[in-house]
Amino acid sequence: MHEGLVRWFIENQRALPWRIAYDPYHVWVCEVMLQQTQVETALPYYERFLAALPTIEALAEADEHQVLTLWAGLGYYSRARNLQAAAKTVVREYGGVVPDDYETLRTLPGIGQYMAGAIMSIAFNKPYPIVDGNVRRVLSRINGWTGENAKQLWEAAEMLVHQAEPRAVNQALMELGATVCAFKAPRCLVCPVRDICVAFKTGTQDRIPVVKKRPETIRVLLFAVVQQKGGLYLMRKEKGLWEFPMFGELPEGSLVKAGSCRHTITHHRLEVNVYTGRLENTDGFEWMDFSELPVSSLTKKILGTITENLKLPKVTK
Ligand code: SF4
Repeated sequence: MHEGLVRWFIENQRALPWRIAYDPYHVWVCEVMLQQTQVETALPYYERFLAALPTIEALAEADEHQVLTLWAGLGYYSRARNLQAAAKTVVREYGGVVPDDYETLRTLPGIGQYMAGAIMSIAFNKPYPIVDGNVRRVLSRINGWTGENAKQLWEAAEMLVHQAEPRAVNQALMELGATVCAFKAPRCLVCPVRDICVAFKTGTQDRIPVVKKRPETIRVLLFAVVQQKGGLYLMRKEKGLWEFPMFGELPEGSLVKAGSCRHTITHHRLEVNVYTGRLENTDGFEWMDFSELPVSSLTKKILGTITENLKLPKVTK
């Protein structure tokens, strides 16, 4: 199967910027961005990030504020902090050269089994397997697995990576999952592994892989958007990102409800109530120019709720 799969990849792969030279730093940045984020969403962030921080040295030396501003909107900000911490180690201990050794990579912040395998195979073309959501779906459907486990998946991926060029076969599995073997309505008629796919033969594509529903938790949050006459907002810095004051219950002051919005972070659904007005106690907060700060997409959404409901001018970032 690997031959057809690799041939299909060579002929059909999307022209993505990190595939031009497979520079290890570029591959690493793109893989970190692509965890939990689709290629189309991540692409503009990737290009902005590398235009501002084109080398691993530039990332290591950058201000955290700049790194988080470039990351703002992608979510999962610990990924950006780990990436920078790892870049600093690579510059300090390995002369700025990304190690082409699996065990060394695993010692760097934020690099687990998947990320080390991705850098080793895609950047260095070495036979290390990778299993992400796309690979899991493709391998489970090909083999007809309904109760697959991690060990089984990693072993199947490992077998493939020793049969064909690691860089091509790993990317082929991921690309097939992203562009053909979609979660809903896979395009089996154009699939290069159709002839050996158990799910296709048995018509069970929509039952594989089995989706385990995670319990969704709902949290209610209260935020206060307080603005000075000059246009500055009362904000506080939390793990490198700026956010509006958040409360468990309404504090002293003259706050009035100005709107509400919803936001989802992994399996948490947030019901967000937004207040505005005056706050009695502003300890721990600073007056900040919103347009210059690294903020999360939730913070942007909160401000959007206010500006929409109160018809205030929009702040662009
Ligand atoms: Fe997925 Fe269909 Fe290809 Fe099987 S034949 S791997 S279900 S796209």
